[in-house]
Amino acid sequence: MPASGMQSPRVVIVGGGFGGLYAAKALSNEAVDVTLLDRKNHHTFQPLLYQVALGVLSPGEVASPLRQILHPARNLRTLLGEVVGIDAAARTVRLSDGEAVAYEYLILAAGARHAYFGRDEWAHHAPGLKTIEDAVGIRSRLLLAFERAERQAHLSGRREPLSFAIIGGGPTGVELAGAIADLARLALAKDFNAINTKQARIRLFEGGPRILSALSEDSSRKAARQLEQLGVEVCTESLVQTVESGRIKVRDEWIATDLTLWASGVAPSLLGKMLGAAMDRSVRVLVEQDLSVPGHREVFVIGYMAALVDANGTPVPGLAAAAMQEGQQAARNILRDLQGRPRESFRYTDRGSMATVGHHRAVAEFGRWHLSGILAWLLWSIVHVFLLIGFRNRAAVMRQWMWAYATRKGGSPLITDCQQPEAARHAK
Ligand SMILES: Cc1cc2nc3c(=O)[nH]c(=O)nc-3n(C[C@H](O)[C@H](O)[C@H](O)COP(=O)(O)OP(=O)(O)OC[C@H]3O[C@@H](n4cnc5c(N)ncnc54)[C@H](O)[C@@H]3O)c2cc1C
Repeated sequence: MPASGMQSPRVVIVGGGFGGLYAAKALSNEAVDVTLLDRKNHHTFQPLLYQVALGVLSPGEVASPLRQILHPARNLRTLLGEVVGIDAAARTVRLSDGEAVAYEYLILAAGARHAYFGRDEWAHHAPGLKTIEDAVGIRSRLLLAFERAERQAHLSGRREPLSFAIIGGGPTGVELAGAIADLARLALAKDFNAINTKQARIRLFEGGPRILSALSEDSSRKAARQLEQLGVEVCTESLVQTVESGRIKVRDEWIATDLTLWASGVAPSLLGKMLGAAMDRSVRVLVEQDLSVPGHREVFVIGYMAALVDANGTPVPGLAAAAMQEGQQAARNILRDLQGRPRESFRYTDRGSMATVGHHRAVAEFGRWHLSGILAWLLWSIVHVFLLIGFRNRAAVMRQWMWAYATRKGGSPLITDCQQPEAARHAK
């Protein structure tokens, strides 16, 4: 504790996602004065966002107000604000309304943004999934596609199967494709009478030779097989060349779509660039072993924004678990400074990787152990409920999943944004 009359060092954390939140928790009730800045008032549990997009869960079940999560600690304050500038020399961050916040230590944990590989105009036709707003927007577009098809079938007799395209065969693309298949085959099947929702074509496009390229070939093959059992067409070596309203071009062929979703890439927050530090090819800040920025021992960059090969020689992955561990380590290193002890190097503990493929289907890897099918799915469910922030959310998600399991129905298939964002699809 600082001597009486001395001010506690000010620690500013930018971002209340996985990294920032775990850093804040590790600093709670310590002899530091912590300000957590986020442009949203809530922490979002991104791994379950696709369930909001699919109407299984509602937004309040995967997000929690930061103020409520952190309020028990008296040395923590949560402020709503978007950071738009960093003056590392003056040790201040600047907010979008012009206010400045001073720090002795800064932890940058602003995560990722959507990346359309320089084709930002695609964003309007192929929304990505990153925030609660994205998930609610996708849910509306998805349900509107079914509603439009039902209306057309009634009014003009058109009964062509719906066509959904998901671009990107990483975990998010696989989850979305499997969940849309579940929605069309199970949850919505009895709700429409003019169209047969089970006939919907769901195509997953991946530019590389296999889906889930971060997992082993074995898991990737099993995930593809599970998707195909659900009726998803897995199209590998299929780089999408153009995305337009109602259609995409793949391998020089136009494909009509009722909804296109983007799961093909994210890039780190641009805040990292403002530090003037060295960056890797993905524009992540190359941090030291203690997670600080070279030349700025008082600035730590963690989570998706940071690039590091850790003290064990492991390249730290852009996963939630890594962000949490880095948040805790950055906090520990600040406290070690204050205690006059040397800083520790960060060592990533790999607790495995998993991807869910749909109802009862998933793949999981823990070192040499590879699981798939219902066992992997059960494990995936337990881990995700356990990691959710707050007992209320855990209880609500358990209740919702048990209901969905028993009834084979989604939780809240509501269209809350009735503006029809996309024109009808192109004729084939
Ligand atoms: C759909 C989806 C599914 C995923 N599924 C998994 C999974 O199953 N398992 C897994 O391990 N990982 C998963 N991930 C990846 C995981 O969520 C990220 O690796 C992790 O969130 C990175 O943590 P972070 O703290 O760096 O950033 P985030 O958790 O993204 O937090 C960043 C925070 O910074 C705030 N912020 C951003 N810019 C500013 C600014 N300028 N000013 C103020 N605040 C700002 C944001 O509002 C946000 O709260 C998934 C990601 C997505 C998008």
